[in-house]
Amino acid sequence: MPVNGLPPYDTTNIFARILKGEIPCRKVLETEHALAFHDIAPQAPTHILIIPKGSYVSASDFSTQASAEEVAGLWRAVAEVAKPLEATGYRIICNMGMDSGQEVPHFHVHVLGGRPLGVMVA
Ligand code: 5GP
Repeated sequence: MPVNGLPPYDTTNIFARILKGEIPCRKVLETEHALAFHDIAPQAPTHILIIPKGSYVSASDFSTQASAEEVAGLWRAVAEVAKPLEATGYRIICNMGMDSGQEVPHFHVHVLGGRPLGVMVA
């Protein structure tokens, strides 16, 4: 039974395989704690995914299990990736679990921008 409604970490998920170098990605940034790369099916002119290097499924896992350095490292990477979009704006999205449609069970942050993104309705 999952502790928080989400499955335990699956070490074969796509982002785990990208981190291991088994699947290629278009890398934007890599730091000690985070990897940023272009989404394979971009929903906006800029659509970048930022992932922690540790094995976390959800925001809850990440915020309770990761070290302060990992948490800061991930959000600094998000800020760095988003910086070029600041003049026109951008959106940050994190999907968690079934109702959100989370496809890849490795915690990640989407940064979207480069066009008007519309009003969020859900
Ligand atoms: P989620 O719905 O889990 O929040 O988003 C997962 C994202 O990962 C989707 O936007 C999807 O397009 C992207 N994605 C899935 N497989 C791959 C892949 O192999 N490479 C890259 N770069 N992105 C992927």
